Amino acid sequence: MARDPRFDILFDPVRIGPVTAPNRFYQVPHASGMTNALPRVRAAFRETKAEGGWGVVCTGACSIHPSSDDSPLPFATLWDKDDIKAHALMTDAVHKHGSLAGVELFHGGAVVMNRTTRTPPLSPSGTPWMATHIGFMSNLRPKIMDKADIADLLQWQVEGARKARSAGFDIVYVYAGMGYLPYEFLLSDYNQRTDEFGGSVENRVRLIKQMIEVTKEAVGDTCGVALRISLEELRKRPGTHMESEAHEVIALMKDDPDLFDVKLDTTPTDCSASRFSPEGSHEPIINFVKKLTTKPVVGVGRFTSPDTMVSQVRRGVLDLIGGARPSIADPFLPNKIKEGREDEIRECIGCNICISSWHDGVPVRCTQNATAGEEWRRGWHPEKFKPARRPEKILVVGAGPAGLECARVLSRRGVQVTLADKADEFGGRLRFETKLPGLSAWGRVLDYRMLALKSDANVELYPGSDLTADDILEFGCDRVVTATGSRWGTELYADSELPTAPFHAPGVYTPDDLAVGIVPEGPIAVFDFDSYYMGGLVAEHLAKLYGNVTYITPAGQASAWTVMTNELPRVHQALTRAGVPVRTLSRVAGFGDGVLTLTGLFVDQLEQIPCRSLVITGLRRPNDDLYQSLIAKGPDLAAAGIRSVDRIGDAMAAGAIAHAVFSGHEYAREFDLSPQERNWRRDRPVVTEPFGKGVYEAAE
Ligand code: ADP
Ligand code: SF4
Repeated sequence: MARDPRFDILFDPVRIGPVTAPNRFYQVPHASGMTNALPRVRAAFRETKAEGGWGVVCTGACSIHPSSDDSPLPFATLWDKDDIKAHALMTDAVHKHGSLAGVELFHGGAVVMNRTTRTPPLSPSGTPWMATHIGFMSNLRPKIMDKADIADLLQWQVEGARKARSAGFDIVYVYAGMGYLPYEFLLSDYNQRTDEFGGSVENRVRLIKQMIEVTKEAVGDTCGVALRISLEELRKRPGTHMESEAHEVIALMKDDPDLFDVKLDTTPTDCSASRFSPEGSHEPIINFVKKLTTKPVVGVGRFTSPDTMVSQVRRGVLDLIGGARPSIADPFLPNKIKEGREDEIRECIGCNICISSWHDGVPVRCTQNATAGEEWRRGWHPEKFKPARRPEKILVVGAGPAGLECARVLSRRGVQVTLADKADEFGGRLRFETKLPGLSAWGRVLDYRMLALKSDANVELYPGSDLTADDILEFGCDRVVTATGSRWGTELYADSELPTAPFHAPGVYTPDDLAVGIVPEGPIAVFDFDSYYMGGLVAEHLAKLYGNVTYITPAGQASAWTVMTNELPRVHQALTRAGVPVRTLSRVAGFGDGVLTLTGLFVDQLEQIPCRSLVITGLRRPNDDLYQSLIAKGPDLAAAGIRSVDRIGDAMAAGAIAHAVFSGHEYAREFDLSPQERNWRRDRPVVTEPFGKGVYEAAE
């Protein structure tokens, strides 16, 4: 298909100092959870994006010195020459496709805790980041940097840049964002110095200017030098002679780097979930930068629409279209636009499950793209599929995320697929969840797959088909996959912090009841120990519709797990705006006759509040009745020609949509492989030193 000429501008080359990006698609540095311990996993993950057309592909944060140790969170290192080899795997892989490789050299300052290296964190004035989340708190306060520390930092940056060049990188960063060390010099709250590095804006940018200068001296004739900078807080602060401190900072450095990579300050706004921010949400903060510099500017905003991208370039907001999440959800986004297949883009839904992987300390996972992080170890390519070993006819029952993904991938493997669902509309849990406040973008999970399924001649779609085991025996197929989802339970929560037996009483509901249209009578209480988005969203939704809703949880915060997806502060804001009181560390001790009895989780403190409806978002259990009744058919299955019956997604183990999509994908890729073939490869660090013979023998 021919590309639409209005998108041509996206394929212009852009000069970045001495190097040239082949197009405007720029995969900005983003965490991948892969670290130098998984160098092949990392190289293949980044390579896939270069193959998919991203003109620049960067690493995530790459520490320049042991005093920048973010453990146990995953981060890369360029501390010594052995680290160079680990990165060279990635730069070689990216270069194979004609793309540039960038490295985000990073010093975390007071934000990292140096838990492994045990060096005191460094900071301009000894001010810690007083995080409210336990994983980010520290009981070691940072050291105030003296002149020798500043000289050391500049030297570490030089050495990091040289190693980066040896590793084959084309773009080397100075990273002054997200609270990390150079950024701490910019912000007066962190920087109360009285020397030439503190006080006026000129003084506060001095260190960053010096870092850029020494980086250029180290690599500037061979590599582009980029400055990544957070501008949200600075933009709020009035300048002395310009509109804001952000304006003054950029004006003072306008000629220094070869590229400005501009972003916001904290993860809840910088990579905001779609629930809270639309595409292009950074523009009001960063839109001034290009007016102050002639250097190219890259920025992000969960861009998935090529029209929005073109508009950003044409209106002079950005020169390069930065992508982190959109490049994870669809590494082939640029090529799809290039080939006139933009309707095939697997759009990021903005759920931030990818970010939760970083908090978990594991390789990146993605709701939309089950192959993310599996390119090397499972050999999964996002766009290529091996044909099935023999002609197969497979029935998939249930068209939620798991069944949809399973059917899509089976059909790409040439399997003849029938996808049936008892509901008249496909989508499973998405039918209800996409109607909750802010979740409409999650409908892309369905839209992307429906487009693929409808255009494939191998696929038959049967909505409105409530299938029994007997129906399936009669249907005639080689294999059956049940993707019949899960049910919410009515268990409460005991003081042992374990769920109770199911609780049945008039006025007790679950999200399944709301999904079929039951309207709870007010006052309403939502009792949430699922702790992901459902409880908080149901409370917000019901409050907007009917008012008078209280949210109760045994956890310390509302929707407590959303700290992992960077949504937590904004969940609390949303509940407050919707007028929902939040009661934490509490559990339901009784309900009936219009009264809800609450007690503290750790302290017995009975309290009664008026309540006519109790909505419980607690346990979810597989809805696997169909699977069980099929299995119970025993030899009748073989007699009907059915070789296998399986469960996938929530019908196997209830979880987030990402798990269901992964499960559907995994079945479809691997149903005809032997157990040995299903084994995935284990990555390990590049070993450079021979293992000491004596030690080896002792270990044997
Ligand atoms: P998952 O997240 O695992 O994909 P969902 O709960 O989103 O699961 O979707 C499960 C789908 O299965 C629902 O759309 C439901 O209507 C459908 N379903 C459940 N039981 C049957 C059945 N016996 N026959 C056909 N469809 C079914
Ligand atoms: Fe987008 Fe969600 Fe995938 Fe992250 S996990 S890239 S937010 S779809």
